[in-house]
Amino acid sequence: MTRINRNFTKLPGGYLFPEIGRRVRAFSAEGAPMPLIRLGIGDVTLPLAPAVIQAMHRATEEMGRRETFRGYCEETCGAYDFLRFAIRDSYLARGTRVDDDEIFVSDGAKSDCGNIGDIFSADNVVAVCDPVYPVYVDTSAMAGRAGEYDGEKWTGLVYLPCTAENGFFPALPEGKAPDLIYICSPNNPTGAAATREQLKTWVDYANAHGSVILYDSAYEAFITRPGIPHSIYEVEGARTCAIEFRSFSKTAGFTGTRCAYTVVPKDLVREGVSLNALWNRRQGTKFNGVSYVIQRAAEATFTPEGQAQIRQSIDYYLNNARVIREGLQAAGLTVYGGVDAPYIWCRTPDGAGSWEFFDRLLRQACVVTTPGAGFGPSGEGYIRLTAFGDAGATEEAVARIQRIL
Ligand SMILES: *Cc1c(COP(=O)(O)O)cnc(C)c1O
Repeated sequence: MTRINRNFTKLPGGYLFPEIGRRVRAFSAEGAPMPLIRLGIGDVTLPLAPAVIQAMHRATEEMGRRETFRGYCEETCGAYDFLRFAIRDSYLARGTRVDDDEIFVSDGAKSDCGNIGDIFSADNVVAVCDPVYPVYVDTSAMAGRAGEYDGEKWTGLVYLPCTAENGFFPALPEGKAPDLIYICSPNNPTGAAATREQLKTWVDYANAHGSVILYDSAYEAFITRPGIPHSIYEVEGARTCAIEFRSFSKTAGFTGTRCAYTVVPKDLVREGVSLNALWNRRQGTKFNGVSYVIQRAAEATFTPEGQAQIRQSIDYYLNNARVIREGLQAAGLTVYGGVDAPYIWCRTPDGAGSWEFFDRLLRQACVVTTPGAGFGPSGEGYIRLTAFGDAGATEEAVARIQRIL
């Protein structure tokens, strides 16, 4: 008889977004007095840049001619040199050396953040920030690294609280060091971006204990403050302890197009084995690369024209973030994030629970947000708002919230 992976049966089964959907549908069915404005979504809304579309057209034409048709890509794990070199050069433009054979192109940072677990022993202890992007937690649970779910937390995970008191950046844990440490900066959901000094404490810790940092910088392009690292490799010592995940999803609107990359430095060695070689073996075996058309599209984001165009979209979202941040502040709320990230992390007023405040904003302002408690225990008492919406609708949502407070 076939036995299933029992770890999957331990998963609490997608609570947050289904529950939001249920509440929103119930309210709509009762007859919402105004059209709903959704500031809960973590998805982009602006179309792809013209330079990207042109590159896709050109590549599609190539695929339709025998002389320029492409099948399997024979280059590194299905990634074309033209894209890996462009990525390498984009690091170099910020003064960071990343070799082209350290760059692995994939269909998404979400898949890579989860799949990376394949190259590590099942008994590694995983640390996650709290609140957290749920992918790190659920994929750790699927791999048997999370223990049991007790209704609030996983018994096998180390939770690193990120609170207003610590500036939403985790303190080093006490006791035995975790083996794998997920850090996301700029952060989803809190919008906080780590400073060089903050990252350095973790890099030194990981090097001292032989841990590996799994660094998700999917939102690096949203950093506006000078001096905030865009890559963990800007921090001395990171090449011997960190793997970095990046994506074209939020940077260039590729959420439906699919392209991302992961950097595994050749200096990163554990138990005498190169993690770069292991990941190369893993991807080479289980993954045949991203479509040629999409790799050309991703390449186009690095041209001067492409850079200027994707910058416009990022600035549009960052302006929404400013409107939300300043508008909620003016309404007397305490808000964080929204400066180096498209997320605003807002304290609920008068000690309200995050679901309670979510319901109030839904029912009185017809604005959909995300309750912070859905991202982990330390998210209680907060809601997340996203800046990915339409500028006019975002202003309207903020005005409505101001009226009801
Ligand atoms: C959106 C997001 C990603 C990007 O995932 P893709 O699979 O590349 O679309 C990665 N990490 C975080 C924290 C995100 O919010």
